[in-house]
Amino acid sequence: MKKNNKQTILTKNQELIVEIEDLGSEGEGIGKVDGYPLFIKDALVGDVVRVLVMKAKKNYGYARVVEIITSSPYRVTPACDIARKCGGCQLQHCSYEQQLVYKQNKIINCLKRIGGFEDISIEPIMGMDEPYYYRNKAQFPVGRSKTSEIVTGFYASRSHNIIDTTNCAIQAKENKEILELVKEYMEECQIEPYNEETHEGLVRHILTRVGFVTGEIMVCLVLNGKSLPKAELLVERLKNIKGMTSITININTDKTNRILGDKIQILWGQGYITDYIGEVKYQISPLSFYQVNPVQTRKLYETALEYADLKEGQIVWDLYCGIGTISLFLAKKAAKVYGVEIVPQAIEDAKCNARINQITNAEFFVGAAEEVLPEQYKKSNGTMAADVIVVDPPRKGCEETLLETIVSMTPKRIVYVSCDPATLARDLKYLCGHGYELKRVRGCDMFPMSFHVETIALLSLVK
Ligand code: SAH
Repeated sequence: MKKNNKQTILTKNQELIVEIEDLGSEGEGIGKVDGYPLFIKDALVGDVVRVLVMKAKKNYGYARVVEIITSSPYRVTPACDIARKCGGCQLQHCSYEQQLVYKQNKIINCLKRIGGFEDISIEPIMGMDEPYYYRNKAQFPVGRSKTSEIVTGFYASRSHNIIDTTNCAIQAKENKEILELVKEYMEECQIEPYNEETHEGLVRHILTRVGFVTGEIMVCLVLNGKSLPKAELLVERLKNIKGMTSITININTDKTNRILGDKIQILWGQGYITDYIGEVKYQISPLSFYQVNPVQTRKLYETALEYADLKEGQIVWDLYCGIGTISLFLAKKAAKVYGVEIVPQAIEDAKCNARINQITNAEFFVGAAEEVLPEQYKKSNGTMAADVIVVDPPRKGCEETLLETIVSMTPKRIVYVSCDPATLARDLKYLCGHGYELKRVRGCDMFPMSFHVETIALLSLVK
């Protein structure tokens, strides 16, 4: 056979040795074999690894680590011994300092490559002092192991196999005791965990939430049924945990991957917990959306407030407002805040949160931002004013029709909060092509140990 020198062709199950040169967008190592990139999970820049090729496509392939020959200087022992199997974290094997470097570079690269911003200087990423035990919300699936024990923990990467653990390094520490008590109660009262394949069994998930400021705790059992037998025995144990405020069941009898159903019943205490971000108080039910890392959320919102630089009498639009978290933060400084959000329940929560904080200058609209804003603007014959517009869209970023309306409203400043630097860069490029100038950019690490990074950007109207 004639050898083709130009193109390296690897085959499945081939073993080879590569050096990792870079990390991809989902935290996977990238090594090159004569220019052919291999994506390798759990590998780090500086590692020399022996890998097994799993999949070889025309221009790139996937491989898995068989042996680490030379260890990267950034490699650390993961806090969880199940880190590699678990689908939750992708970067526990990387030092936290280096995780931040990776995230900072990710933002810079997107701004350059996608946004065409060549010499933008970005501010240092906001990391956590204590990057573990930071999540205030957990949803643990419940099932049976092969040896028939009740297990609860997390799904393995890209699967629905439950990895049994009550001790997760990024979840609130209180969960361990809660999970153990629920398991104990289920064993004693012979309560069957849910089986996804047969759609039989009762307990599907255990949802917990902890108010990090108030110390209030919520436990909600998601059931494939309408009631929990001998619930009083469970309540009796759980209510002794310090901070326990709300014990509920959620009814979800559908054959679905969706975790929660629509109905909640209180077993003990209230149907919600309260917590604070800065000075703003929030009521959180099992169904409400709430940021999962309150420590970093506060930093992010404070940066948003700083970037917005509100002056007396100014009007703000907060698009993709969720439960109004940013809106209420801004309302204290603004004359009027308008929030727009597509999920009706979130707007109900936003209104309730405004009420309990005695905030009367916030108004909320249910609907798609790209429909509500243009409609309102048209209705006002182009007179509707905004001094500052904040957007915090999901990963796919903003629709161009929304950006068009924003630009025609000529706000003095636009604050863009983003959970995906690629779509952020795309949208910033549009805005900078339509009368705006990129002034400041800063990353915020909302999800240590994962590949995700949140970014906040400030644009100002060019005079
Ligand atoms: N700013 C909020 C939530 C941001 S998450 C906070 O900080 O808590 C993004 C939000 O956008 C979600 O609440 C989602 O429901 C909402 N959303 C998604 N698509 C939307 C659209 N087209 N118009 C308005 N809101 C949308």
